[in-house]
Amino acid sequence: MLHYQPQMDLASGALVGLEALLRWQPPGQAMIYPGDFIPIAEETGLIVPIGEWVLRSACAQQKKWQDAGMFAGVRMAVNLSTRQFGQQDIVSTVLNALAESGCSPSWLELEITESVIMDNPQAATETLQRLSDMGVHLSIDDFGTGYSSLSYLKRFPIDALKIDRSFVRDITVDADDAAIAQAVIALAHSLKLKVIAEGVETAEQLAFLRKQGCDQIQGYYVSQPLAIDKLEQLMSDNKLR
Ligand code: C2E
Ligand code: CA
Ligand code: CA
Ligand code: CA
Repeated sequence: MLHYQPQMDLASGALVGLEALLRWQPPGQAMIYPGDFIPIAEETGLIVPIGEWVLRSACAQQKKWQDAGMFAGVRMAVNLSTRQFGQQDIVSTVLNALAESGCSPSWLELEITESVIMDNPQAATETLQRLSDMGVHLSIDDFGTGYSSLSYLKRFPIDALKIDRSFVRDITVDADDAAIAQAVIALAHSLKLKVIAEGVETAEQLAFLRKQGCDQIQGYYVSQPLAIDKLEQLMSDNKLR
């Protein structure tokens, strides 16, 4: 199943995105988190059909919410793995998921990691350009943890960088992490990209990121990833904006 985690705009306080995150709940057993099965799915190639299911489910849910006037204007963010990106015609998979659900491309954001780009920069450029031309938003996930050539950033049709949680965790106590976050925010802004910080858990982290001009945050401080019913409950209780 998918759980959804809110992404909040720091200037307006508004909910601007929901990231779809996979969960595996075997009946009568404890929930299994993606860290425990995605690497295996990547190895076996099962990530391709699983990823396709994620895309179709997230687009269908997004269409439902947009039709109901719930989460209006809130983008749905979906993770794409490197293998998924490289092994199939990802553009037609995305097109099919959009067409089948009736979800507008501009309501969808795809999160890719630096390794997607660095694996095959030439092919990735073309694929990303086609996705971007369709109107789908693109962001670089876990930014700063992989190897990327900064020169690609200006060549790729990317909309946002996500500062990895590992840099955010100690941002208020570790001068190096603070410096990295500051540098990523400055880099993103000078390239006209939005920047979103992952894993924000405390008011102190939020205050630091706000002061540095970070655009959006995602993390337990705002909300954990939630099942659909819990998320809708929070929304109707006005606990999320
Ligand atoms: P990610 O894309 O970097 O997603 C963010 C992870 O950080 C999620 O873990 C989320 O639950 C967790 N998180 C968010 N806020 C906080 C916080 O404030 N504190 C802490 N400690 N953690 C926070 P999750 O759901 O376990 O997912 C782990 C990774 O699995 C994701 O990292 C992503 O790389 C992968 N993943 C999840 N769903 C999918 C999917 O549908 N497709 C693919 N290809 N990968 C997925
Ligand atoms: Ca992600
Ligand atoms: Ca990730
Ligand atoms: Ca991350």
